[in-house]
Amino acid sequence: MLSQASGRLGFNVVILDPEENSPACRVSQGQIVAAYDNPTALQVLGKACQAVTFEFENVPARSVEILIEAGCEVAPGPRALAVAQDRVDEKSFLNSIKVPTTAFAAINDLGSLRAAVASLGAPALLKTRRQGYDGKGQAWIKADSGAARAWAAIGAQPAILEARAEFVRELSVICARGRDGDIAVYPLGENTHAGGVLKTTLAPANVGSQTKAQATRIARKILEGLDYVGVMGVELFEMPGGRLLVNEIAPRVHNSGHWTQDGCACDQFEQHIRAVAGWPLGPTAAHARVEMTNLLGNEIKAWKALAADPAVRIHIYGKREAKPGRKMAHINRILPLARSRPRSPGPARKS
Ligand code: AMP
Repeated sequence: MLSQASGRLGFNVVILDPEENSPACRVSQGQIVAAYDNPTALQVLGKACQAVTFEFENVPARSVEILIEAGCEVAPGPRALAVAQDRVDEKSFLNSIKVPTTAFAAINDLGSLRAAVASLGAPALLKTRRQGYDGKGQAWIKADSGAARAWAAIGAQPAILEARAEFVRELSVICARGRDGDIAVYPLGENTHAGGVLKTTLAPANVGSQTKAQATRIARKILEGLDYVGVMGVELFEMPGGRLLVNEIAPRVHNSGHWTQDGCACDQFEQHIRAVAGWPLGPTAAHARVEMTNLLGNEIKAWKALAADPAVRIHIYGKREAKPGRKMAHINRILPLARSRPRSPGPARKS
């Protein structure tokens, strides 16, 4: 989708991906099939391109440094990537710039986990520090006695223990910063998850102006704190009373921003390319309300009925195998842009 947006703006795109014929290669002008840390491949990529970006955060930060050393413009930069790759560094950074998160502790062994459960209280969520996504590498600790089981469940590796956020709902904000420091923020999305995986986003979310202003302040602090260039997704917990905590940041376009493809004149993909290329940022206002739904695994089989619905725009990724739980496509259901009254944050949800 980044490549499609680039093509529309007149750019050629070369993809570096370990997989032959990846979905992005189908819509790009060149491909390099190699590991993300292959030094020769990085040299070839750097020579071929004026600017380089990435679309998932498990690209090694060292690869970004190699490209920069070779004289390439890379955005977002290595600091944003490194911070987002480690859950302890990420939350420590957020707290250092006065962005609130749930209480947490760094975990290195079972002893430190037991001590953290005693101080944060149960229930609490144990997550691997690195490589976790979509609820993977996570285990709930329901009582003090559950520490050993959870430690084994995540593979006894460096981790973070997070106090449970008793949130009312999950929101996210997609924001962008240009090379000139200009910042653009999209309307908030309201997200539902199933099994730790994003299922739907409704945007613009039904939130009041104070919540919007709070999310914008948070986005601005993070973007400026990282001297960030590009689009970023910020996942938020809305707490009873309306306070927002940051769950995590994604240094890239984000699944909860897919609604912008059919709800905004300039979607998150074009916005990211504009930022990376040093263009002025595009407008972020919504011209429709959109409900985005991910199609996982075999749900893609419903494509024909969905494509027949005039209110639905379907975006299929072209992955060849529909493994269970794999994100295969998403639909954007276009709804009227209602002028509804903001919902006041009620009591915490029961979980
Ligand atoms: P993550 O991989 O960190 O985005 O977590 C996936 C999902 O787990 C989130 O979208 C929340 O629904 C839930 N979750 C993560 N961390 C917490 C927490 N500290 N308290 C309550 N729920 C959480």
